[in-house]
Amino acid sequence: MDKQLDLTRLKGVGPKLREQLQRLNIHSLADLVFHLPFRYEDRSRIQMIGNLQHQQPAVVQGEVRSADVLFGKRRSLLVKIADHSGVLSIRFYHFSAAQKNQFRRGALVRCYGEARRGASGLELYHPEYQLLDNGLDDLPEPQLTPVYPTTEGISQQRLRLLMDQALERLAANEIPLDDLLPLDWLQQWGLPSLKQALLFLHRPPREVELAEMANAHHPAQQRLILEELLAHQLSMQRLRASAQQPGAPVIQGTRTLHQALLAQLPFTPTAAQQRVTNEIITDLARPLPMLRLVQGDVGSGKTLVAALAACHVLEAGFQVALMAPTEILAEQHFQNLSDWFEPLGIPCGWLAGKTKGKARVAALEAIAAGQAQLIVGTHALFQEEVHFHRLALVIVDEQHRFGVHQRLALKDKGNLDGLSPHQLIMTATPIPRTLAMSAYADLDTSIIDELPPGRSPITTVVVSDQRREEVIQRVDHACREQAQAYWVCTLIEESEALQCQAAENTAEDLATQLPHLRIGLVHGRMKAAEKAAVMAAFKAHQLDLLVATTVIEVGVDVPNASLMVIENPERLGLAQLHQLRGRVGRGSVASHCVLLYKAPLSFTSKQRLHVMRESQDGFYIAEQDLMLRGPGEVLGTRQTGLQMLRVADLQRDAELLPQVREMATQLWHQHPQRVEPLILRWLGDAERYAAV
Ligand code: ADP
Ligand code: MG
Repeated sequence: MDKQLDLTRLKGVGPKLREQLQRLNIHSLADLVFHLPFRYEDRSRIQMIGNLQHQQPAVVQGEVRSADVLFGKRRSLLVKIADHSGVLSIRFYHFSAAQKNQFRRGALVRCYGEARRGASGLELYHPEYQLLDNGLDDLPEPQLTPVYPTTEGISQQRLRLLMDQALERLAANEIPLDDLLPLDWLQQWGLPSLKQALLFLHRPPREVELAEMANAHHPAQQRLILEELLAHQLSMQRLRASAQQPGAPVIQGTRTLHQALLAQLPFTPTAAQQRVTNEIITDLARPLPMLRLVQGDVGSGKTLVAALAACHVLEAGFQVALMAPTEILAEQHFQNLSDWFEPLGIPCGWLAGKTKGKARVAALEAIAAGQAQLIVGTHALFQEEVHFHRLALVIVDEQHRFGVHQRLALKDKGNLDGLSPHQLIMTATPIPRTLAMSAYADLDTSIIDELPPGRSPITTVVVSDQRREEVIQRVDHACREQAQAYWVCTLIEESEALQCQAAENTAEDLATQLPHLRIGLVHGRMKAAEKAAVMAAFKAHQLDLLVATTVIEVGVDVPNASLMVIENPERLGLAQLHQLRGRVGRGSVASHCVLLYKAPLSFTSKQRLHVMRESQDGFYIAEQDLMLRGPGEVLGTRQTGLQMLRVADLQRDAELLPQVREMATQLWHQHPQRVEPLILRWLGDAERYAAV
């Protein structure tokens, strides 16, 4: 590293502090100046002790009256200070003898803290404080006081002193920082240079409104936010460019197979299905690999869209692979698709992790020889030993369960003389628009925004487990009326074993209480064949009630099931609940979903379950989920790198995203040499991390 940027150039930084700073991801002076405050305090005005109020942060200044060590329940140091308006107690539970001795009677102290009602009136606990020698240094701080993210062993004061030194160097141009945003942009938008912005944000003058800073509306903040969002956008676009770089086979179907498939269906596609299918067909006809995300709410008919896309590729003599995240779902796709395609003369193949022995050898051979043309499976399709004959379209269902980068691994599997297969990604977890624009900037998106006709709405009720008996009776009643029901068991433990155990116990209990019902059980630890048999029996209405773990979350389709009970729904994400609930409401009778929570509920949990009750709109639910939990959790941290945003906040700054897209395009054209340094500056680490 540049010697000039070495942290030990600062006074007071030795090997130990340098190591501690590394925990804050600060490895150089340049990193240090990018370590920005997360909020500010106004300590520029000194308050009268007599005017202090409970729970109000304030700066006070006074003369030490006494400093005594008290031996109560807990040993503490109690210092009393006074100004002409009153006396205030300051209490320390952690203190040294040296510290006590600092508080000589008559010394002048300035403290910053939040006053709280205590044993002796208002008290300050462990305030930041400063002894003012000779009473001369009594100017209040001229700026807002920054509060930095920090780590154990580095106090705010320490960090501020280090920063003071670093900022001096920054101001003197001793820390080289290229301004990577073009000057004309900054002028056009009235934004400061990078150096100005950083200097300002570390030490904003006291006139600045705290509220403006808290909303991140100040130009200095906007300048950095734009730059960071731009860096993320560029990185996504670069990922896309590299994915598309090899080119792809141009697929121009005649629509013969397409028409034949439609002709044998008992329904016609919705307008939304048609529109999205056309978008895909247009992509396929281009010489670049398609990278398209199809979002469609649960039950919107994504499978048909995928099948129609497949028609064109199959007709052109290529293979199509469809990958699903669970074996149950893959199995179901395999059944549906072979029902559709085998009669049309398209041989289908099946490959899952549990396909073993002779069956596996045969499957692999059929795939490699091109005898299997439409291949359905799980992650197993990624494995090294799988070789395709000519794979031109990869369809990934329920993509949020695969990593964003994982899907690129199928790129090399096509055996297309250096060309890449087209990729179609389908998700039923609608990704809020704001997130889609940044997290999935490397994908084009299509939305199936319409459900097939004849669906009936689902009524959702939120019920405490104290009313479990009633709920059981309700299941009984529904099943006697020829409906079918799901009972979903969730468990907070990550352990699949425990989840399965819970489901087994519940199934036994329910069987005892409802002896006349035919009850089945599916969970993740059952053999694939057993699971498939139970699912088939449920589908054929040989079972009334299916007790399950969340394995049935995605894709399972049994239209006659019209009641779902979800235990401990408060433990699941809203998107997951929405997925689960989407298993009902697929037929023409009115459906019900009972969210059977464990009382008492926290405030947030209440709000979240309320969202489920009031809405059936996956997009709305996803937005709410995002608001209540934040993007990292909604999308899964590994997948995005978004949790690494340092100054931007996707929700707060959502309105900037269209502009950021525009900026990215312009930068590629006008200043391509700045792309790399920008990405490196803002997500050097994150990118490395994501590529693993
Ligand atoms: P999802 O989008 O959740 O994957 P599916 O593809 O499983 O939805 O479709 C749900 C159900 O709707 C299936 O039974 C499917 O056959 C049926 N379906 C799909 N499209 C239509 C349509 N246009 N009209 C009527 N039913 C449809
Ligand atoms: Mg589906």
